[in-house]
Amino acid sequence: MTAPETAEYPAGIRAAATRLGLTPAAYMTKKDAGLKWCRACKEWRPLAEYKPSTSTDDGVRPLCTRHYKPRQATPITHGLNGYQRGCRCSECRAAHAREQVRIRAERRADPARADRAGHGKRATYNNYGCRCPECKAVHSQHMRAYRLRNQRGLAT
Ligand SMILES: [Zn+2]
Ligand SMILES: [Zn+2]
Ligand SMILES: [Zn+2]
Repeated sequence: MTAPETAEYPAGIRAAATRLGLTPAAYMTKKDAGLKWCRACKEWRPLAEYKPSTSTDDGVRPLCTRHYKPRQATPITHGLNGYQRGCRCSECRAAHAREQVRIRAERRADPARADRAGHGKRATYNNYGCRCPECKAVHSQHMRAYRLRNQRGLAT
């Protein structure tokens, strides 16, 4: 296997390699060996020593486990709370849906909120249930455009 030219590496890889004073090829060799640079340790550590993460590109936390105090995981309570903590089980989803309905009903019960949101907007029509002429006009215009788009879609 021949190492590709430096320019062939994605910019992200090249930048990461430069930061560590490595060539992209040397950087990739480390990565291919299942290693990841820990900024805090200032050394290459096996990927297994990084906790998984959903918010980073490589799917693990930026620092190795040494830098994270083991936190007592509080057991998740399902329902709205669980949904806010990222749980998407049927119970949490149902609670979230109920909450959305409640929020919408609350907004509709208070027309002043629609005034604050501003009229002549689809969001005001949808979220605040406003049926003033301005909001209705915007909504029907949207529906017309939507129907037209659909018809064109069918025709082609
Ligand atoms: Zn570390
Ligand atoms: Zn849940
Ligand atoms: Zn309105």
